[in-house]
Amino acid sequence: MIIRARVVVTMDGPPIEDGAVAVSDDRITEVGKFSEISARHSAQEIVDLGEQVLLPGLFNAHCHLDYTCLRGKIPRQKSFTDWIRAINAEKAKLSPDDYVRSIDEGFAEAKRFGTTTIANLSAFPELILRIESPIRTWWFAELIDVRDPSRAREIVDLAVAQLKGAEYWGLAPHAPFTASANLYRHCEEIARRQNILLTTHLAESREEMSMFRDASGPLYDFLKEIGRDMSDCSNETPLHRFSEILRDSSTSVGMTEGGMVVHLNELTEGDFDLLKRSATKFQIVHCPRSHEYFGHEVFQFHKLRELGFNICLGTDSLASNDDLSLFAEMRAFQKEFPDVSAEELLKMVTVNGARALRQENASGKIRASFSADLIAVPCAGSTSAFEEVIGFDQPVSWSMIGGQTQTNPSP
Ligand SMILES: [Zn+2]
Repeated sequence: MIIRARVVVTMDGPPIEDGAVAVSDDRITEVGKFSEISARHSAQEIVDLGEQVLLPGLFNAHCHLDYTCLRGKIPRQKSFTDWIRAINAEKAKLSPDDYVRSIDEGFAEAKRFGTTTIANLSAFPELILRIESPIRTWWFAELIDVRDPSRAREIVDLAVAQLKGAEYWGLAPHAPFTASANLYRHCEEIARRQNILLTTHLAESREEMSMFRDASGPLYDFLKEIGRDMSDCSNETPLHRFSEILRDSSTSVGMTEGGMVVHLNELTEGDFDLLKRSATKFQIVHCPRSHEYFGHEVFQFHKLRELGFNICLGTDSLASNDDLSLFAEMRAFQKEFPDVSAEELLKMVTVNGARALRQENASGKIRASFSADLIAVPCAGSTSAFEEVIGFDQPVSWSMIGGQTQTNPSP
Protein backbone atom coordinates (compact mmCIF):
# COMPACT_ATOMS: atom_id res chain seq x y z
CA MET A 1 0.00 0.00 0.00
CA ILE A 2 1.16 3.55 -0.72
CA ILE A 3 -0.09 6.42 1.42
CA ARG A 4 0.24 9.87 -0.09
CA ALA A 5 -0.11 13.18 1.77
CA ARG A 6 0.51 16.85 1.11
CA VAL A 7 3.41 16.71 3.60
CA VAL A 8 5.14 13.77 5.25
CA VAL A 9 6.80 14.67 8.55
CA THR A 10 9.20 11.77 9.04
CA MET A 11 11.01 13.03 12.20
CA ASP A 12 14.03 11.64 10.34
CA GLY A 13 15.03 14.59 8.16
CA PRO A 14 13.12 17.56 6.73
CA PRO A 15 9.40 17.22 5.92
CA ILE A 16 8.69 15.89 2.42
CA GLU A 17 6.22 17.92 0.31
CA ASP A 18 3.90 15.74 -1.80
CA GLY A 19 5.30 12.75 0.03
CA ALA A 20 4.39 9.11 0.28
CA VAL A 21 4.99 6.13 2.51
CA ALA A 22 5.01 2.56 1.22
CA VAL A 23 3.75 -0.02 3.72
CA SER A 24 3.89 -3.78 3.53
CA ASP A 25 2.32 -5.93 6.26
CA ASP A 26 3.09 -4.18 9.54
CA ARG A 27 6.19 -2.28 8.35
CA ILE A 28 7.16 0.84 6.46
CA THR A 29 9.16 -0.18 3.41
CA GLU A 30 9.94 3.19 1.86
CA VAL A 31 9.38 6.92 2.29
CA GLY A 32 10.00 9.77 -0.17
CA LYS A 33 8.43 11.89 -2.90
CA PHE A 34 5.10 10.53 -4.14
CA SER A 35 6.26 10.67 -7.78
CA GLU A 36 9.26 8.44 -7.06
CA ILE A 37 7.53 5.99 -4.73
CA SER A 38 4.50 5.55 -7.01
CA ALA A 39 6.76 4.99 -10.06
CA ARG A 40 8.65 2.24 -8.25
CA HIS A 41 5.53 0.50 -6.87
CA SER A 42 3.10 0.97 -9.75
CA ALA A 43 0.94 -2.05 -8.91
CA GLN A 44 0.26 -0.93 -5.35
CA GLU A 45 -2.99 0.33 -3.88
CA ILE A 46 -2.78 4.10 -3.31
CA VAL A 47 -4.47 5.87 -0.41
CA ASP A 48 -4.40 9.60 -1.04
CA LEU A 49 -4.91 11.53 2.21
CA GLY A 50 -5.01 14.83 0.30
CA GLU A 51 -4.33 18.06 2.17
CA GLN A 52 -2.97 16.42 5.31
CA VAL A 53 0.27 16.05 7.23
CA LEU A 54 1.29 12.42 7.68
CA LEU A 55 3.47 11.77 10.71
CA PRO A 56 4.51 9.00 13.12
CA GLY A 57 1.91 8.00 15.71
CA LEU A 58 2.36 9.71 19.08
CA PHE A 59 3.88 8.27 22.29
CA ASN A 60 2.28 8.96 25.66
CA ALA A 61 5.13 8.19 28.06
CA HIS A 62 3.09 8.34 31.25
CA CYS A 63 -0.53 7.84 32.13
CA HIS A 64 -2.89 5.99 34.44
CA LEU A 65 -5.92 4.89 32.43
CA ASP A 66 -7.38 3.41 35.64
CA TYR A 67 -8.56 6.92 36.47
CA THR A 68 -10.08 8.03 33.15
CA CYS A 69 -13.47 7.99 34.90
CA LEU A 70 -12.27 10.58 37.44
CA ARG A 71 -12.17 13.37 34.86
CA GLY A 72 -13.55 16.53 36.46
CA LYS A 73 -14.17 14.76 39.78
CA ILE A 74 -11.30 16.28 41.77
CA PRO A 75 -11.19 20.06 41.84
CA ARG A 76 -7.80 21.68 42.46
CA GLN A 77 -6.83 21.13 46.08
CA LYS A 78 -4.83 23.28 48.47
CA SER A 79 -2.07 20.72 48.64
CA PHE A 80 -0.76 17.60 46.91
CA THR A 81 -1.60 15.65 50.06
CA ASP A 82 -5.22 16.84 49.92
CA TRP A 83 -5.32 15.61 46.33
CA ILE A 84 -4.08 12.17 47.47
CA ARG A 85 -6.85 12.08 50.09
CA ALA A 86 -9.42 13.15 47.47
CA ILE A 87 -8.38 10.53 44.91
CA ASN A 88 -8.34 7.84 47.59
CA ALA A 89 -11.94 8.76 48.50
CA GLU A 90 -12.98 8.52 44.82
CA LYS A 91 -11.14 5.23 44.32
CA ALA A 92 -13.01 3.69 47.26
CA LYS A 93 -16.24 4.04 45.24
CA LEU A 94 -14.96 2.08 42.21
CA SER A 95 -15.35 -1.63 41.45
CA PRO A 96 -13.15 -3.79 39.20
CA ASP A 97 -15.80 -3.43 36.45
CA ASP A 98 -15.61 0.37 36.78
CA TYR A 99 -11.85 0.19 36.32
CA VAL A 100 -12.12 -2.02 33.24
CA ARG A 101 -14.59 0.44 31.71
CA SER A 102 -12.37 3.35 32.67
CA ILE A 103 -9.29 1.80 31.05
CA ASP A 104 -11.23 0.88 27.89
CA GLU A 105 -12.54 4.44 27.60
CA GLY A 106 -9.04 5.80 28.16
CA PHE A 107 -7.60 3.66 25.36
CA ALA A 108 -10.32 4.78 22.96
CA GLU A 109 -9.70 8.42 23.83
CA ALA A 110 -5.91 8.18 23.57
CA LYS A 111 -6.29 6.56 20.16
CA ARG A 112 -8.74 9.23 18.98
CA PHE A 113 -6.09 11.81 19.81
CA GLY A 114 -3.44 10.09 17.68
CA THR A 115 -1.60 8.16 20.37
CA THR A 116 -0.37 4.86 18.96
CA THR A 117 1.94 3.86 21.85
CA ILE A 118 1.32 4.32 25.54
CA ALA A 119 3.11 3.67 28.83
CA ASN A 120 0.20 2.90 31.11
CA LEU A 121 0.54 2.41 34.85
CA SER A 122 -2.13 0.27 36.43
CA ALA A 123 -2.70 -0.44 40.08
CA PHE A 124 -4.69 -3.51 38.99
CA PRO A 125 -2.52 -5.75 36.83
CA GLU A 126 -5.03 -8.56 37.48
CA LEU A 127 -7.43 -6.72 35.13
CA ILE A 128 -5.09 -6.73 32.12
CA LEU A 129 -6.47 -10.04 30.86
CA ARG A 130 -9.93 -8.47 30.60
CA ILE A 131 -8.74 -5.64 28.40
CA GLU A 132 -7.90 -5.58 24.73
CA SER A 133 -5.73 -2.55 24.13
CA PRO A 134 -6.29 -1.00 20.70
CA ILE A 135 -2.84 0.66 20.66
CA ARG A 136 0.69 -0.50 21.57
CA THR A 137 0.72 -0.65 25.33
CA TRP A 138 3.47 -1.00 27.88
CA TRP A 139 1.67 -2.17 31.00
CA PHE A 140 3.42 -1.11 34.17
CA ALA A 141 2.17 -2.50 37.46
CA GLU A 142 2.02 0.36 39.92
CA LEU A 143 3.40 -0.95 43.19
CA ILE A 144 2.81 0.42 46.68
CA ASP A 145 3.75 -1.26 49.96
CA VAL A 146 3.47 1.71 52.31
CA ARG A 147 0.93 -0.03 54.51
CA ASP A 148 2.81 -3.33 54.62
CA PRO A 149 6.49 -3.11 53.64
CA SER A 150 7.14 -6.63 54.94
CA ARG A 151 5.22 -7.86 51.87
CA ALA A 152 7.38 -5.98 49.32
CA ARG A 153 8.73 -9.06 47.49
CA GLU A 154 5.38 -10.82 47.51
CA ILE A 155 3.63 -7.75 46.05
CA VAL A 156 6.17 -7.47 43.24
CA ASP A 157 6.19 -11.20 42.41
CA LEU A 158 2.40 -11.35 42.26
CA ALA A 159 2.33 -8.39 39.87
CA VAL A 160 4.99 -9.98 37.67
CA ALA A 161 2.89 -13.14 37.40
CA GLN A 162 -0.16 -11.06 36.40
CA LEU A 163 1.79 -8.99 33.87
CA LYS A 164 3.12 -11.97 31.99
CA GLY A 165 -0.01 -12.04 29.82
CA ALA A 166 0.88 -8.64 28.36
CA GLU A 167 3.00 -8.30 25.24
CA TYR A 168 5.05 -5.43 26.69
CA TRP A 169 5.32 -4.86 30.41
CA GLY A 170 7.35 -3.27 33.17
CA LEU A 171 7.25 -2.37 36.84
CA ALA A 172 6.38 0.93 38.47
CA PRO A 173 7.35 1.28 42.12
CA HIS A 174 5.02 4.24 42.78
CA ALA A 175 7.33 6.76 44.53
CA PRO A 176 9.90 6.76 47.33
CA PHE A 177 7.22 7.91 49.76
CA THR A 178 4.87 4.97 49.04
CA ALA A 179 7.26 2.19 47.95
CA SER A 180 9.91 0.81 50.30
CA ALA A 181 13.61 0.52 49.48
CA ASN A 182 13.18 -3.26 49.37
CA LEU A 183 10.39 -2.96 46.86
CA TYR A 184 12.54 -0.74 44.60
CA ARG A 185 15.51 -3.09 44.90
CA HIS A 186 13.47 -6.17 44.10
CA CYS A 187 11.98 -4.43 41.03
CA GLU A 188 15.42 -3.49 39.86
CA GLU A 189 16.73 -7.06 40.28
CA ILE A 190 13.87 -8.32 38.10
CA ALA A 191 14.42 -5.56 35.54
CA ARG A 192 18.08 -6.52 35.18
CA ARG A 193 17.35 -10.22 34.99
CA GLN A 194 14.44 -10.04 32.58
CA ASN A 195 15.41 -6.90 30.68
CA ILE A 196 12.15 -5.11 31.36
CA LEU A 197 11.43 -1.43 31.88
CA LEU A 198 11.03 0.43 35.16
CA THR A 199 9.28 3.68 35.84
CA THR A 200 8.66 5.71 38.99
CA HIS A 201 7.38 9.09 40.19
CA LEU A 202 10.08 11.28 41.73
CA ALA A 203 10.44 14.77 43.19
CA GLU A 204 6.96 15.72 42.06
CA SER A 205 5.79 18.13 44.75
CA ARG A 206 7.05 20.64 47.31
CA GLU A 207 5.53 18.39 49.96
CA GLU A 208 7.66 15.44 48.86
CA MET A 209 10.70 17.71 49.17
CA SER A 210 9.79 18.91 52.65
CA MET A 211 9.00 15.36 53.74
CA PHE A 212 12.40 13.92 52.80
CA ARG A 213 14.53 17.00 53.45
CA ASP A 214 12.89 18.61 56.46
CA ALA A 215 10.90 15.73 57.98
CA SER A 216 7.85 17.95 58.01
CA GLY A 217 4.85 19.13 56.04
CA PRO A 218 1.44 17.70 55.10
CA LEU A 219 2.76 14.66 53.21
CA TYR A 220 5.08 13.79 56.10
CA ASP A 221 2.20 14.06 58.58
CA PHE A 222 -0.18 12.07 56.40
CA LEU A 223 2.22 9.18 55.84
CA LYS A 224 3.31 9.10 59.46
CA GLU A 225 -0.34 8.89 60.43
CA ILE A 226 -0.91 5.82 58.25
CA GLY A 227 2.09 4.10 59.85
CA ARG A 228 4.96 4.62 57.38
CA ASP A 229 8.44 4.30 58.90
CA MET A 230 9.67 7.89 58.53
CA SER A 231 13.30 7.26 59.50
CA ASP A 232 14.41 7.88 55.89
CA CYS A 233 13.27 11.50 56.14
CA SER A 234 16.25 13.50 57.26
CA ASN A 235 18.13 16.13 55.38
CA GLU A 236 18.01 14.50 51.95
CA THR A 237 16.20 15.58 48.82
CA PRO A 238 13.91 13.05 47.09
CA LEU A 239 16.53 12.58 44.34
CA HIS A 240 19.30 11.93 46.87
CA ARG A 241 17.08 9.51 48.76
CA PHE A 242 16.29 7.74 45.50
CA SER A 243 19.98 7.38 44.63
CA GLU A 244 20.64 5.97 48.12
CA ILE A 245 17.95 3.34 47.66
CA LEU A 246 19.52 1.99 44.52
CA ARG A 247 23.17 2.66 45.34
CA ASP A 248 23.97 -1.01 46.00
CA SER A 249 22.92 -2.06 42.58
CA SER A 250 24.08 0.87 40.49
CA THR A 251 26.94 3.34 40.33
CA SER A 252 24.59 5.92 38.92
CA VAL A 253 21.59 7.81 40.14
CA GLY A 254 18.80 5.32 40.44
CA MET A 255 17.35 2.67 38.17
CA THR A 256 18.77 0.31 35.64
CA GLU A 257 20.00 2.49 32.84
CA GLY A 258 17.05 3.77 30.91
CA GLY A 259 14.43 3.65 33.66
CA MET A 260 11.72 6.25 33.16
CA VAL A 261 11.60 8.86 35.92
CA VAL A 262 8.42 10.91 35.94
CA HIS A 263 8.10 14.56 37.09
CA LEU A 264 11.41 15.80 38.67
CA ASN A 265 9.82 19.15 39.39
CA GLU A 266 11.66 19.70 42.64
CA LEU A 267 15.42 19.68 42.10
CA THR A 268 17.97 21.60 44.16
CA GLU A 269 21.45 22.72 43.08
CA GLY A 270 22.81 19.71 44.94
CA ASP A 271 20.48 17.48 42.93
CA PHE A 272 21.83 18.93 39.70
CA ASP A 273 25.39 18.22 40.89
CA LEU A 274 24.37 14.64 41.51
CA LEU A 275 22.79 14.40 38.04
CA LYS A 276 25.93 15.86 36.49
CA ARG A 277 28.15 13.27 38.18
CA SER A 278 25.93 10.34 37.27
CA ALA A 279 27.53 8.04 34.71
CA THR A 280 24.24 6.90 33.25
CA LYS A 281 21.14 8.84 32.36
CA PHE A 282 17.60 7.77 33.04
CA GLN A 283 14.70 8.88 30.85
CA ILE A 284 12.63 11.84 32.03
CA VAL A 285 8.89 12.21 31.55
CA HIS A 286 7.23 15.59 31.99
CA CYS A 287 3.43 15.97 32.17
CA PRO A 288 2.75 19.65 31.30
CA ARG A 289 -0.96 19.93 32.09
CA SER A 290 -0.84 17.82 35.25
CA HIS A 291 2.11 20.02 36.30
CA GLU A 292 -0.05 23.08 35.73
CA TYR A 293 -3.01 21.57 37.61
CA PHE A 294 -0.89 21.09 40.73
CA GLY A 295 0.95 24.41 40.37
CA HIS A 296 4.38 22.78 40.83
CA GLU A 297 7.70 24.62 40.61
CA VAL A 298 8.80 25.42 37.05
CA PHE A 299 10.10 22.31 35.29
CA GLN A 300 13.86 22.72 34.69
CA PHE A 301 13.66 21.69 31.05
CA HIS A 302 16.69 23.57 29.75
CA LYS A 303 19.05 22.48 32.52
CA LEU A 304 18.01 18.84 32.20
CA ARG A 305 18.31 18.92 28.43
CA GLU A 306 21.79 20.47 28.67
CA LEU A 307 22.83 17.57 30.87
CA GLY A 308 21.88 15.26 28.01
CA PHE A 309 18.68 13.74 29.39
CA ASN A 310 16.10 12.37 26.98
CA ILE A 311 12.85 14.16 27.85
CA CYS A 312 9.45 13.02 26.70
CA LEU A 313 5.85 13.93 27.49
CA GLY A 314 2.94 12.20 29.18
CA THR A 315 -0.61 13.13 30.06
CA ASP A 316 -0.68 11.64 33.58
CA SER A 317 -4.20 10.61 34.63
CA LEU A 318 -7.51 12.41 34.17
CA ALA A 319 -7.64 12.87 37.94
CA SER A 320 -5.29 15.81 37.25
CA ASN A 321 -5.90 16.55 33.56
CA ASP A 322 -8.78 17.24 31.17
CA ASP A 323 -8.15 14.78 28.36
CA LEU A 324 -5.60 12.41 26.88
CA SER A 325 -4.49 14.61 23.96
CA LEU A 326 -0.76 14.90 23.45
CA PHE A 327 -1.42 17.78 21.04
CA ALA A 328 -2.79 19.70 24.03
CA GLU A 329 0.27 18.67 26.08
CA MET A 330 2.55 20.06 23.38
CA ARG A 331 0.62 23.33 23.37
CA ALA A 332 0.79 23.59 27.17
CA PHE A 333 4.54 22.98 26.99
CA GLN A 334 4.91 25.59 24.25
CA LYS A 335 3.13 28.15 26.43
CA GLU A 336 5.61 27.52 29.24
CA PHE A 337 8.69 27.29 26.97
CA PRO A 338 7.99 29.41 23.87
CA ASP A 339 11.65 29.27 22.81
CA VAL A 340 11.52 25.52 22.19
CA SER A 341 10.98 24.82 18.48
CA ALA A 342 7.87 23.05 17.24
CA GLU A 343 10.10 20.37 15.75
CA GLU A 344 11.78 19.66 19.09
CA LEU A 345 8.40 19.59 20.77
CA LEU A 346 7.09 17.02 18.31
CA LYS A 347 10.23 14.96 18.92
CA MET A 348 9.25 14.72 22.59
CA VAL A 349 6.11 12.75 21.68
CA THR A 350 7.65 10.66 18.88
CA VAL A 351 11.41 10.02 18.74
CA ASN A 352 12.05 10.69 22.45
CA GLY A 353 9.09 8.59 23.56
CA ALA A 354 10.30 5.71 21.38
CA ARG A 355 13.75 6.00 22.92
CA ALA A 356 12.34 5.96 26.46
CA LEU A 357 10.57 2.68 25.67
CA ARG A 358 13.72 1.33 23.95
CA GLN A 359 11.97 1.36 20.58
CA GLU A 360 14.27 3.88 18.88
CA ASN A 361 15.18 1.33 16.20
CA ALA A 362 11.60 0.25 15.58
CA SER A 363 9.26 3.23 15.82
CA GLY A 364 8.88 6.97 16.45
CA LYS A 365 10.03 7.91 12.92
CA ILE A 366 8.82 7.26 9.41
CA ARG A 367 11.72 5.16 8.17
CA ALA A 368 12.05 1.94 6.15
CA SER A 369 11.76 -1.15 8.39
CA PHE A 370 10.05 0.78 11.22
CA SER A 371 6.53 -0.14 12.42
CA ALA A 372 3.77 1.32 10.26
CA ASP A 373 2.30 3.41 13.09
CA LEU A 374 1.10 6.58 11.39
CA ILE A 375 -1.39 9.38 11.87
CA ALA A 376 -2.63 12.23 9.69
CA VAL A 377 -3.82 15.73 10.59
CA PRO A 378 -5.27 18.30 8.18
CA CYS A 379 -3.14 21.15 6.81
CA ALA A 380 -4.64 24.40 8.01
CA GLY A 381 -2.45 26.64 5.88
CA SER A 382 0.40 27.43 8.28
CA THR A 383 3.89 27.71 6.82
CA SER A 384 5.38 25.07 9.11
CA ALA A 385 4.22 21.47 9.07
CA PHE A 386 5.39 21.15 12.69
CA GLU A 387 3.24 24.10 13.76
CA GLU A 388 0.28 22.56 11.90
CA VAL A 389 0.63 19.42 13.95
CA ILE A 390 0.97 21.20 17.29
CA GLY A 391 -2.01 23.45 16.59
CA PHE A 392 -4.29 20.50 15.80
CA ASP A 393 -7.08 20.21 18.38
CA GLN A 394 -9.54 17.69 16.95
CA PRO A 395 -9.77 13.92 17.07
CA VAL A 396 -7.50 12.31 14.46
CA SER A 397 -9.57 11.04 11.56
CA TRP A 398 -7.00 8.72 9.97
CA SER A 399 -4.46 6.51 11.67
CA MET A 400 -2.63 3.25 11.12
CA ILE A 401 -1.20 0.89 13.73
CA GLY A 402 1.06 -1.96 12.66
CA GLY A 403 -0.04 -1.50 9.05
CA GLN A 404 -3.76 -1.70 9.92
CA THR A 405 -5.88 1.32 9.02
CA GLN A 406 -7.91 2.38 12.05
CA THR A 407 -11.35 3.77 12.30
CA ASN A 408 -11.89 6.17 15.16
CA PRO A 409 -15.54 6.17 16.19
CA SER A 410 -16.68 9.39 17.80
CA PRO A 411 -17.11 9.22 21.59
ZN1 LIG B 1 1.62 9.42 37.42
